[in-house]
Amino acid sequence: AAASALAGFDGTGRLADGHRIPLLANVATGADAAAAAAANAEGVGLLRTEFAFLDRPAEPTHDEQVAAYGAVFEHFPGRKVVIRTLDAGADKPLPFLTDTAEPNPALGVRGYRTDTATPGVLARQLAAIADAAAAHTAEVWVMAPMVSTPEEAARFARMAHDAGLPTAGVMVEVPSAALTAAHILAHADFASLGTNDLTQYTMAADRLLGPLAALNDPWQPAVLHLVKATADGAAHAATATGTPKPVGVCGEAAADPALAVVLTGLGATTLSMTPRAIPAVAHVLATVTLETAQHLAAAALAAPTAHQARETVRAALPVLDQLG
Ligand code: PEP
Ligand code: MG
Repeated sequence: AAASALAGFDGTGRLADGHRIPLLANVATGADAAAAAAANAEGVGLLRTEFAFLDRPAEPTHDEQVAAYGAVFEHFPGRKVVIRTLDAGADKPLPFLTDTAEPNPALGVRGYRTDTATPGVLARQLAAIADAAAAHTAEVWVMAPMVSTPEEAARFARMAHDAGLPTAGVMVEVPSAALTAAHILAHADFASLGTNDLTQYTMAADRLLGPLAALNDPWQPAVLHLVKATADGAAHAATATGTPKPVGVCGEAAADPALAVVLTGLGATTLSMTPRAIPAVAHVLATVTLETAQHLAAAALAAPTAHQARETVRAALPVLDQLG
């Protein structure tokens, strides 16, 4: 209801000073992608591939995968689509990849880690993504979930490049990845912050447990420090290689307009969110300069609590009252 009171998004995310911050969509299916295109999303920042196969007892075939990914690519001709390899495990078990007997699934063999326990699925998925990409004009970037070390980032990037996918990145959703982002980005072409899991792992609070919601808050200053560490690491990697490495955010945090300002000020280069959040985020971003965003980011980082971080930033953004 809040967003519907606003004019729709015009398709170019920017701050008041013209600084570009592309606004992308999180999608799982072709139908989601159609809705994202209708909302003028500039591309897809997170294609959650596991959602198309959650009910499958067995690995989907090559042709099934090519069709599922192509159903998203076709809605964004010439646009960026960041596709994530299967994030199986924990809150998203896939029968053909997940050992449901693990005592701590969130700390178990999930995401990229499944390639060690069940070799072959990842390589076959990368081949299917490459074939789907070849049949469409979307600019396909591929990324791995739950990467924890530079070695994992290097190996994934090599696998993706070998499959014919030129742009390979990693999600930063584990504190170790945030703290070693410069080394990770020496290998990976980009990073995308998954603030849902980054918050869960920073606060040691299961994201599925309602009673822990106050801990599972991306405004927690500890989480914001890790976002900054990632952006700073990317800047360091850029200096070493001469090539700037993008750092997006694709967790739910990007859909909170006030937090979107903070994330931009911390150095995020793109924001990806559920399409219905885009108009409000675009509206608020357009009212601040990069300097203001950086100032508010510094204030949030310096706050002792999540509550104070949120209230300090919100008080500086009266435009939020227009969202209803
Ligand atoms: C995240 O962890 O923030 C994320 C975007 O991935 P998912 O919610 O699918 O785990
Ligand atoms: Mg995640």
